[in-house]
Formats: sequence, structure tokens, C-alpha cells
Amino acid sequence: MKDTFKHKGLRQQLVAIIKNKGIIDENVLKAIGKVPRHLFMDSGFLDHAYQDKAFPIAADQTISQPYTVAYQTELLQVKKGDKVLEIGTGSGYQAAVLCELGAKLYSIERQKELFKKTSKFLPKLGYGAKKLIFGDGYKGLVEEAPFDSIIVTAGAPFVPKPLLSQLKIGGRLVIPVGDDIQIMTLFIRKGEKAFEKHELDQFRFVPLLEDKN
Ligand code: SAH
Repeated sequence: MKDTFKHKGLRQQLVAIIKNKGIIDENVLKAIGKVPRHLFMDSGFLDHAYQDKAFPIAADQTISQPYTVAYQTELLQVKKGDKVLEIGTGSGYQAAVLCELGAKLYSIERQKELFKKTSKFLPKLGYGAKKLIFGDGYKGLVEEAPFDSIIVTAGAPFVPKPLLSQLKIGGRLVIPVGDDIQIMTLFIRKGEKAFEKHELDQFRFVPLLEDKN
């Protein structure tokens, strides 16, 4: 578990690439510059860690592309101390970026193998999520609601109602919606039943699957 000068240098190059692609939030760029992404991948794949690419992890899942992580994180507008829910813990990389921003993070994963691995790994790096949950993200986390923001890191065929209803007024849901290709969609809760909806760029995620495995 080493983070060397070489890694730090590669990370700064990655930050420059993401900035070039249009990410402007300095806090988000700083967080990407801090999280040692190579440690979230099996050691054989070290060379890939600081390319702006998604990559396979365990259980047929992927660690999202750094640009995608930055894009979604920027839309969340996380402030220190915000209560944030993530659906799809996966490798824990996005979770670590949110922790860097000072989020009180709750994250749900449906794959037992990944849940176990990441639950052990994140604290080792000093990223203490409030709670990692093995469960079905379609349901959200009603016992901890409402949240300042919710981020879905898998492609959702539709927008799960519980996620909208678990937002604070003023809260933000960032969710890629679609089957083969997804449209990044931002919902801002304006009132009890009022939501503002913004459809943004296209992305390609692994699917949000129902129930746990
Ligand atoms: N945020 C992750 C990206 C992982 S890919 C990272 O930074 O590495 C998406 C993840 O969503 C996968 O781990 C997948 O198992 C998980 N997932 C899919 N459907 C889910 C569901 N209904 N509830 C919770 N997690 C789900």
C-alpha cells in the first residue's frame, strides 16, 4: 500500500486531463489529486490507474472513469459535513473522493464480495465512511434519510422513487438514466413534491440491478 512520488506525479497529470475536459470545481480537482486510485485496483493494473479510463474490478464490476467521478461529484456540490448517500460502492474510489470533500458518507453495494472487500479496505486508507451497507440501492436508506445529496454510480433504467423522496428540500440527486447509454440527470428538490430536472451529457455505466446478490 505505497503512494510514491511517481504516483503523486501521475495523479497531477490526471487532474490536468480532467480539468481540460471541463471540470472546474477546485475542491473536486483537489480531491482527485489526493485519492491514491492505484490502491483501488489490483496491483497488476498499476499502469492503468492514472489513465482517464474505467477499469474492471472484482465481481464483473468497474471502477468508474476519473472524469465521470469528477463530473458526478461536481454536480453534487458537496459541502463539508453534508450527509451523502452513494448507490454502488464498488471499489470505494468514488466514496473516497466524497470523504475527501468532507461528506458524511453512506454507501450501498449489492455485491457481497465487493461489499466485504471495500468495507475492509476503505478504513485502511483512512476513509471512514459513516456506514457501508450491503443491500439494494433501489430502496435508498430510509432510516438515515433525508440526505443533502444522493449519487447513483450505476446505470438506472428508471429513477427510483425512494431516492427522490429521501432528499432534503434543496437536496440533489445525480443519476445516470437509461439502458445501454445513460443520460446524466440532476434532480434538485424544490419542495415536498416539486423537483427541478436537468438532463446533461451521455455516459455508459454498468447496470443498476435489482435486489442484492
Ligand atoms: N462507485 C464505484 C463504481 C462501481 S460500478 C467506484 O467508484 O468504484 C457500480 C456498482 O454498483 C457495482 O459495484 C455494482 O455491484 C453496484 N450496484 C449495481 N446495482 C446496485 C444496487 N441495486 N444497489 C447497490 N449497488 C448496486
